Amino acid sequence: MTPDRPKETRPPKQWAAGVPGVVHALVPAVRGMGPARSAKLLLSMNHRDGFDCMSCAWPDPDRRKPAEFCENGAKAVTWEATPLVVDAQFWADHPLDDLRTRSEHWLGQQGRLVEPVHKAAGSDRYVPVSWDEAFAILGDRLGGLDDPDQAAFYTSGRASNEAAFVYQLFARAFGTNNLPDCSNMCHESTGAALGETIGVGKATITYDDFARADLIVIMGQNPGTNHPRMLTALEEAKENGASMVAVNPLPEAGLMRYKNPQTVRGLAGRGTQLADQFLQIRLGGDMALLQAVSRRVLDAEAAAPGTVLDHAFLDAHTSGLAELTAHLADLDEEAVLTATGLTSAEIDELAQRYVRAERVIVTWAMGLTQHTKAVPTIKEIVNLLLLRGNIGRPGAGASPIRGHSNVQGDRTMGIWEQMPPEFLDALEAEFGIPVPREHGLDTVGTVEGMAAGRVRALVALGGNLVGAVSDTAAAEEALGRTDLTVQISTKLNRSHAVVGREALILPTLGRTEIDRQASGEQLVTVEDTVCAVHASRGKVEPVGPALLSEVAIVTRMARAVLAARPGGPGPVDWAAMERDYDVVREHIARVVPGCEDYNAKVRRTHGFRLPHGPRDSRTFPTPDGRAHLTVNELAPVVCPPGRLLLQTIRSHDQFNTTIYRRDDRYRGIKGGRSVVLVHPDDVAELGLADGATVDVHSEYADGVDRVLRGQRVVAYPTARGCAAAYFPEANVLVPLGATAETSRTPVSKAVVVRLEPV
Ligand code: SF4
Repeated sequence: MTPDRPKETRPPKQWAAGVPGVVHALVPAVRGMGPARSAKLLLSMNHRDGFDCMSCAWPDPDRRKPAEFCENGAKAVTWEATPLVVDAQFWADHPLDDLRTRSEHWLGQQGRLVEPVHKAAGSDRYVPVSWDEAFAILGDRLGGLDDPDQAAFYTSGRASNEAAFVYQLFARAFGTNNLPDCSNMCHESTGAALGETIGVGKATITYDDFARADLIVIMGQNPGTNHPRMLTALEEAKENGASMVAVNPLPEAGLMRYKNPQTVRGLAGRGTQLADQFLQIRLGGDMALLQAVSRRVLDAEAAAPGTVLDHAFLDAHTSGLAELTAHLADLDEEAVLTATGLTSAEIDELAQRYVRAERVIVTWAMGLTQHTKAVPTIKEIVNLLLLRGNIGRPGAGASPIRGHSNVQGDRTMGIWEQMPPEFLDALEAEFGIPVPREHGLDTVGTVEGMAAGRVRALVALGGNLVGAVSDTAAAEEALGRTDLTVQISTKLNRSHAVVGREALILPTLGRTEIDRQASGEQLVTVEDTVCAVHASRGKVEPVGPALLSEVAIVTRMARAVLAARPGGPGPVDWAAMERDYDVVREHIARVVPGCEDYNAKVRRTHGFRLPHGPRDSRTFPTPDGRAHLTVNELAPVVCPPGRLLLQTIRSHDQFNTTIYRRDDRYRGIKGGRSVVLVHPDDVAELGLADGATVDVHSEYADGVDRVLRGQRVVAYPTARGCAAAYFPEANVLVPLGATAETSRTPVSKAVVVRLEPV
């Protein structure tokens, strides 16, 4: 790709939203969709009879305002609900060689996909085909594989619960647990850490807990861009007296001050100050910080026994306090200060805030989950919360914030390469089919399998696997080795341009569109980041007459493929599920724990909340029934002299790999994405200048020279010794094998790099 240098850089903004937030939400919407369609869609978004925002997984309050969307939600709707379509001529004009030279931004701007297209083996372009032809190809190619494990079925967080449920059922009826998903690349570390320590890999809070908290600690997270409506919840917490601490290498605007565009003070005044304390931590220093705070809490307890720890809670519900206390007694303060880049006084202040607060929420995102030591770091959050009983109490808890609308729901529905035996037993009993028991492949494992020739076919229910995964060059080469790639998509992205020998694109309905099946209009369901499940109903006519829903595509694919397998079509009534999604939900009710009476519960005003032992009753479904305080060895990232630690970030005009515009308003970057943000003192120390052009080289033990070329150096107030560049472009720097311990999430934070002037 040609470097995309920005036209202009300015100092970063000190606050988020306000009038510019409204303008940047509404102007593109009206331009892209027209005023009537914009009003209809935006005002029904995140409302009871409307559709769920397809962007992040932030929850909805019970008391809804007329406008329950943010700037980035509006951008996501505008992107999906454009009337622009990719017509038949497009495919004639743009062979794959051409599509491969295009940026994610250009691909996404071409409009909605409206007809199935096929690239035959040996051909250099897609041609339109009928749905019957597409399913016949699927039946022949997937049906003809020697072994079901030669196929992998990837899912993105856009898929509804119904689509996810039938998709995993199809994969398992086909005979494989190869169900990689986008969660493997984001919050897998969270699931692993919480699952091991408290028995449930999900947030222990509800939406209302934010308003009840005394202290909210936000770590490795940029809510102003990635879940902007969270700022409203934080503002409410501040109004109720909470204090807030932001822990981040970058002073993001949305951590500092919020001008709520739905209030006069937000539109015309100074808005609300958010962070009372900003800890500008060095990349990879979070685990050291958490240990240092826990150590101070334990010291305070030792100085005044019985006054700091929640002994009643610890005695009744946890194990491991003595081991943790002994381990932290040896914590080396100097090592902590080096790893964090903070002062002892700063850490003291956070510890004092923590001890003073009765109800504490710690919230985090990918700034924590994408490190080698991500899982032990999140376990240290659990340690800190448990010490003072901050789990299973109103206004307190662990709050991972998921980045894609239904990524959590998809996992609940069985999209995981290692679902527990109880789930697989229930699936077998419900459908009368044998399901495979061996764990399947995760995302990195799938790419490795494709590279080695073991995985010959990839089906993707949404997403942009090759754009999102690390080591772009290796991933693209691996995709090219497959016999067949299948994308079930609304719009074009890189994964439609980098394909197997044969490829299919199957266009599907978006969330905004009415989904009609033989039994009438359908609703689908989703789960947000705090385990609330609710309905979503499309509001506008589909952009093309040939579009099928995800459920229809998956169930028809299942019928075509299974009929061609040695065991024949099997007993599952796929057609009934396509006809009426209530049938899918009846199955979900009998298979998925907590979803009993699903059809009735999702039709309640605000849906329902999935049960969660630690949150609801301090019941911990671990093997010994206790929450575990754990001992984790500190292993800070070593950065040699003359090198920087680089993290990947998303711009404000971006959602995952989707690039809405080439700007990053809050960070002051305009008209281009090829930048590397570096502290001004590091710029000088490296002998560079603001505005210089550099190639960014990552340094790994394998000796491969991975390079991100032509980046403009932007002197920026990040932490000393740290740098940042945009995802997905900077994925080229991270080897496929560089993954977090236990979770196998690609490590795209704290990458050791050197900058070479061009
Ligand atoms: S906060 Fe997230 S879910 Fe809510 S409107 Fe914004 S992007 Fe959509």
